[in-house]
Amino acid sequence: MPLILQLPLPSAMHQAESLALLRRIDQRVRQQLAPQAAAIDQQALYPQAMLRGLGEDGAYAALLPAEQGGSGLGLATLMASISEVGAACGSTAFLAWCQSACVYLLRHAAPREELSATLSELAAGRRLGGPGLSNAIKHLAGLEAMRLRAELCPQGYRISGELPWVSNLGAGHLFVAAASCSDGGKLVFLADCDAPGVRLNAGPPIAGMSGTRTLCVKLDQVLVPSERVLAEPAAFVGFIRRVRPGFVLAQAAVGLGIVQGCLDDIQAANLRDGEQNRWLDHSYEDLAAELAALWREAKTLAPLAEAGQAAPPRVLRLRAEVSELCLRAAMSAQLHAGAAGYLLSSPAQRRLREASFIAIVTPTLKQLRREIHHAEQPQPA
Ligand SMILES: Cc1cc2nc3c(=O)[nH]c(=O)nc-3n(C[C@H](O)[C@H](O)[C@H](O)COP(=O)(O)OP(=O)(O)OC[C@H]3O[C@@H](n4cnc5c(N)ncnc54)[C@H](O)[C@@H]3O)c2cc1C
Repeated sequence: MPLILQLPLPSAMHQAESLALLRRIDQRVRQQLAPQAAAIDQQALYPQAMLRGLGEDGAYAALLPAEQGGSGLGLATLMASISEVGAACGSTAFLAWCQSACVYLLRHAAPREELSATLSELAAGRRLGGPGLSNAIKHLAGLEAMRLRAELCPQGYRISGELPWVSNLGAGHLFVAAASCSDGGKLVFLADCDAPGVRLNAGPPIAGMSGTRTLCVKLDQVLVPSERVLAEPAAFVGFIRRVRPGFVLAQAAVGLGIVQGCLDDIQAANLRDGEQNRWLDHSYEDLAAELAALWREAKTLAPLAEAGQAAPPRVLRLRAEVSELCLRAAMSAQLHAGAAGYLLSSPAQRRLREASFIAIVTPTLKQLRREIHHAEQPQPA
């Protein structure tokens, strides 16, 4: 059972409902996902049915309160769900995060009828979508220029530009992205992958995560009607500030799941070769203790993030520590598994690539360390 459920949730009712959700997910992971994990990794199989199934199980709806048609189980339960998936397949957990991120963004968007209908579809897994916000997040950290431009038009905005990597895309899917206006104002919007002017292009082959339908999105004068604007320029900074901690915490759950998968690999390897393995650094017990400590912090931060009260540096520190633990645990799982773990078909080999991804997807480990460093500097009086 994920550690998160061994810690008290706000009420006993929530505890029972969360446990029931995680049992459903556990069953789906064992029956549907685990047999496909190698094909997702090596044959770029996109686990569409699994993602929709997670929606049917109620994973994404945990992010919504009852008045928005959700279960109200909250971000901590969503994180436990993503982590269960991640212990079997990091790519699918990342896709579950993409979907959850879209739900979280729409949940905090300006209240508009069309957005709330789409929100229900996304939460149920009937529509799928990806967040294309790395560029905006890096832009706000002073790391790159905005890649999408918006022009005001009578129906809303016309958007043009290119995002090199957005995951969980395809025909019938949606994406959320941000664009800048000529006066410097920025907005967050929702668009259809099939909208006129949108083109999805495959990039060069990638080392892992190839089943995540990560595509380059080109937009040429794409019409985004006003009803599909999540945050207008006046609300942009406040919107990103409001959603970023929850967005980042949910992503950290992918890494926590990968670490759990590494622990499972180490345990299996120790049954075969426990005597020699005790000479290795980062034992099962050490890594399990580190994972438990990160879950404790995640469990504390999740409700604070939902309430808009989580201190951003604390969230960034947790996310960085998850990246670091992922890298240590995946290398250790490889060493524990020995030559068997060097087979391309070995889960330990796959997790090395999944763990590297956690450290290079935005917010990357280098960006996190930079932001934490700047946040820790004394502010001028
Ligand atoms: C498998 C995968 C899935 C991803 N999924 C998403 C997602 O769902 N949503 C999202 O917003 N981001 C996604 N990203 C992007 C990711 O979050 C990083 O922002 C991106 O990899 C750039 O990383 P970096 O900060 O190390 O920049 P660097 O690698 O240092 O790149 C520097 C600059 O070059 C640009 N650049 C990098 N690669 C390309 C390329 N192929 N073509 C054109 N320009 C490029 C970067 O955008 C950046 O401006 C994904 C990346 C990968 C590898």
